[in-house]
Amino acid sequence: MLNALTIDVEDGWSIFSRDALSKEVDVTQTVVKDTERILGILADGEVKATFFILGNVAVKFPSLIKRIAQSGHELAIHGFSHKQIFRLSKEEFRSEIKQSKDTIENLTSAAVAGYRAPAFSIMPTTKWALRILAEEGFEYDSSVAPCKNLRYGWKDFSKDICLMDLGDGLTIIEVPMTILLFPLTNIAFLTGGGYLRHFPYFVTRAIIKHVEKTRPAIVYTHPYEFGEEEAALLMEHLSPYLRFKKRLLLRSRLRNKSTMPMKIKKLLSDFEFSTMKHVINEWLSHQSSKNRCAKK
Ligand SMILES: [Zn+2]
Repeated sequence: MLNALTIDVEDGWSIFSRDALSKEVDVTQTVVKDTERILGILADGEVKATFFILGNVAVKFPSLIKRIAQSGHELAIHGFSHKQIFRLSKEEFRSEIKQSKDTIENLTSAAVAGYRAPAFSIMPTTKWALRILAEEGFEYDSSVAPCKNLRYGWKDFSKDICLMDLGDGLTIIEVPMTILLFPLTNIAFLTGGGYLRHFPYFVTRAIIKHVEKTRPAIVYTHPYEFGEEEAALLMEHLSPYLRFKKRLLLRSRLRNKSTMPMKIKKLLSDFEFSTMKHVINEWLSHQSSKNRCAKK
């Protein structure tokens, strides 16, 4: 089974600073160094991946975007400011995706087909965003977590790649995040991010082995999960004056970063990975009739 490897390219430090510490900080150079680490691992493993780029990173570091494209990876977008969709109006959402898409297409001269929402924030209350994506020429979205978590999730959504009918002849392909629900609970485990970083590698490997019997697994990570520089920036803010919850958040951001290069290398040797586009095309070629998204 061909699985998809995806990297959400955002500057972890400036987002954390704004969202958790209420302090606006410009996009930092750490995103460049950390993304280059990932590019190196992918080059060694001879694997192509999909990079969902945040618009503010593309504007500040255009040469990084060109380097990703020149390495043969797929470029898609992750919004512009990393505000979750429920914090944007429809007009602001449209303006964010247009700005990011135009910036990346101008830098690479290649069409952008895919989108991933910050923090998987396409849910029943924000599903209007899918229609705007289709109107703006996006072919696929990979933002829905088919579960119900505290901050995100669309319970009862299809777990498979599916075609979503948006009315008036508009459609979009949805590639839901891979989840496994723990038995007898509603607790979902995703293949990537903090789940990959904080748990031993064999947990994610077991889930992908189970999932890929029937469908591709979608694995995701972020440059900041590899970053020693970002860890140093965060350490400076671990003062005793920070409130308890913020200290916990910061500690969670710092933990287990050193395990990530090894875990990604193991994934690349244990499974077959490619870009979202490649995985979607494989899926389309094996479908006699297009799988429609089941949703409640
Ligand atoms: Zn993100």
